[in-house]
Amino acid sequence: MIPVCEPELGEEELRNVIECIKSKAISGIAGEFIPEFELKLSEYCGKRHGVATSSGTTALHLAIAALEIGPGDEVILSAFTNIATALAIVHNGAIPVPIDSERETWNIDVNLIERKVSSKTKAIMPVHIYGHPCDMDPIMEIARKYKLYVIEDAAEAHGAEYKGAKAGGIGDIGCFSFYGNKIITTGEGGMLITDNGDIAERAKLLRNLAFGKKTRFQHHYLGFNYRMTNIEAAIGVAQLKKLDYFAERKRYIANFYYSRLKDISGLTFPVEKPWAKNVYWMYCLVIEDEFGINRDELMEKLFKKGIETRSMFIPMNQQPIFQKLGLFKNKEDRCPVAEELGRKGLYLPSGVGLTDDQMKYVCETIKALSKRKVATK
Ligand SMILES: *Cc1c(COP(=O)(O)O)cnc(C)c1O
Repeated sequence: MIPVCEPELGEEELRNVIECIKSKAISGIAGEFIPEFELKLSEYCGKRHGVATSSGTTALHLAIAALEIGPGDEVILSAFTNIATALAIVHNGAIPVPIDSERETWNIDVNLIERKVSSKTKAIMPVHIYGHPCDMDPIMEIARKYKLYVIEDAAEAHGAEYKGAKAGGIGDIGCFSFYGNKIITTGEGGMLITDNGDIAERAKLLRNLAFGKKTRFQHHYLGFNYRMTNIEAAIGVAQLKKLDYFAERKRYIANFYYSRLKDISGLTFPVEKPWAKNVYWMYCLVIEDEFGINRDELMEKLFKKGIETRSMFIPMNQQPIFQKLGLFKNKEDRCPVAEELGRKGLYLPSGVGLTDDQMKYVCETIKALSKRKVATK
């Protein structure tokens, strides 16, 4: 089976982990790897502060909490995302307001944002989906006009660029995930980055149970334990050195797939806007009707041929749990583009360790499946 994604871990990761174990610096408040990882990733993105967390989900949750966004507030977000983005809003008691995707990049449609801004809106959360950055200038402009925070969900976009600026380094806060299939990984882990020292300090306080400053066990805020362990950070420090190489590998994989699939009819491919550097976290295809078989059939057939794929996200407005909570019941909450992507989209094996032969096999198999259908028509 060709897996959809596997991490690449090397000697340095191993050495760093051994160092943690030998020095007994394994927890979330011990050891030097945590501050080093925070410093290096925030610097890489051109930001002053990093706050490492236990996951991308908790980085997002902490970002909203650190901005003191809560009950009575609304947060605008990309509808087409991992549910973690929306959960960060909902678990803080605020209301998520999803915005549909635009057709080319599948990112938040910046033309639809302003009409959803209300007196309750506190922040915009653009998600750089599958490694392509959102069109940040118009988003930042709307945020300035209405005095909103911008929290970038860069969980899929380490190393991606918007007009030369690193994804995650443009808004007030950028959030990363280092889950096992992300562009760099710590197994589980996340980080928020910011230029704002007050936000960073509040996030660090809340991350660590909001221990009292004067009297340790006297707490003045509702904190969390969202700490990253030193072992995870040790892996992260080693992974970060390879980030640019991983991003180039992803771009190579994208180019490889595109060049061999582009002549098959009924496939829509990821794009790279002139202002963007896409890091193609996962190489996606949208299976149009002309392909002959639908997305689910294609996934099943590929699986039988030993090729693992995964369907694209189902947008937030269609999530049963949110509908049960009474959200997104109106016609204007529909997100037709994102809904279509959720029905028709999949991603191919995209791990940085894929060989050319594996990718060739994937392409030939897809080609054969499309042809077979044509032949039996
Ligand atoms: C992976 C992901 C997350 C969640 O990160 P975890 O580390 O798995 O908690 C959040 N947002 C997006 C867009 C993601 O892809």
